[in-house]
Amino acid sequence: VSEPALSIDEQRLATRLGELGNIGRDEEGRLFRPVYSPQWAEARDLIQRWMDSAGLSTRTDAAGNLFGRLDGDTVGPVVLTGSHIDTVRDGGNYDGALGVLGALAAVEAIQDQLGRPPQPIEIVAFCEEEASRFTSSFWGSRALCGLIEATEAERLVDESAVTLAEAMRDVGLSHDRVGEAFRDDVAAFVELHIEQGRILEDAGDQLGIVRSITGLRQLGITLLGRADHAGTTPMILRRDALAGAAEAMSRIEALAMEMGPPAVATVGTIVAEPGSTNVVPGRVRFTIDVRHPNADAGHRLAGDVESVLREVAQSRGLELAIGVFNDHAPTPLSDLVANVIAKAARYEGVSTREMVSGGGHDSQIMSRITPTAMIFVPSRDGISHSPDEFTPIDQIAPCVQVLGRTMWLLASEDSVQRRQREPQVAR
Ligand SMILES: [Zn+2]
Repeated sequence: VSEPALSIDEQRLATRLGELGNIGRDEEGRLFRPVYSPQWAEARDLIQRWMDSAGLSTRTDAAGNLFGRLDGDTVGPVVLTGSHIDTVRDGGNYDGALGVLGALAAVEAIQDQLGRPPQPIEIVAFCEEEASRFTSSFWGSRALCGLIEATEAERLVDESAVTLAEAMRDVGLSHDRVGEAFRDDVAAFVELHIEQGRILEDAGDQLGIVRSITGLRQLGITLLGRADHAGTTPMILRRDALAGAAEAMSRIEALAMEMGPPAVATVGTIVAEPGSTNVVPGRVRFTIDVRHPNADAGHRLAGDVESVLREVAQSRGLELAIGVFNDHAPTPLSDLVANVIAKAARYEGVSTREMVSGGGHDSQIMSRITPTAMIFVPSRDGISHSPDEFTPIDQIAPCVQVLGRTMWLLASEDSVQRRQREPQVAR
């Protein structure tokens, strides 16, 4: 059976992206839509109205995740697609939002052009992913996967000392019911997301098939030397913490360069104390972010980074403290779902490239409970988490087409049978 390629209503999708992107803008035009804020609730209500008008049955769960369901010939399990609706401070219109509104456009195309799917298809708008209000990364997908810790909502506070539990109450939710958001009926998950890099753009490929999400280790470093007079202390007698940090930084950069792509290591923040023109810096604090999609290589790189720090500290008579504030293993995604995306792209005539995600996504959480893969959409100049985030609608549409075809294939009986043969690995 050969159906024509899916046709996406580009105009409607572009208009919705603009409308959603205007919710949460301040007087200067900066976008910020933190979880459980009034602007977040407004955005969710608007998306719910769009889902309703598309004829989907909608509901929100105990965490505030929004679902829109296209019924299938059977009642379950469900093929799920979506992303998050919260944003970073001064964010853009596409990160997260495109995965939700693109999913809606894909499902509308399925309804109009393919009809009722064999299995139900659902869209999810996750309530929170960015950790831009609370340090609660992946709150929405973690709730769906049953991975919220009992004390989290009362422990986490925003910058105004409002707890996550209080923030939930403000939008009519109850933190002690968040466990009810758990689902065990998801057959597969696909997330469409902007690349947030420039690999697709540089290569001229239309769509990225993400097969794994990189591992990440973030360190907080303190080098302690001695603050001395910059005029009277001879070079040989100094214990200059900032000079030590500078040596460590250039050697850490070289380590990642030597290992080669996709290894990356970044010093993103640095504070020197006492911070005076005429004083040798006695104490420096900085952060290191080390990422690699291969677990062994990531461990090796992180180990080498720590060795460099120890060598530098020792040779310069500095005290060293290393704190780890984030440590995520790489997440391999589902070959089965990635292969269905590849098949869908061939069907729709869209060129693809296999990729690793260098950023974290809800998909790394979802992959713990269901076969999961991602579709990357090109990002102009690789820019994200910025008002300059942009992808032209004629580059978005082919990816949404492939998402629609992927959902249709996953919801078809053939895929169900193959999916049942894929072993489920708990991670
Ligand atoms: Zn995102």
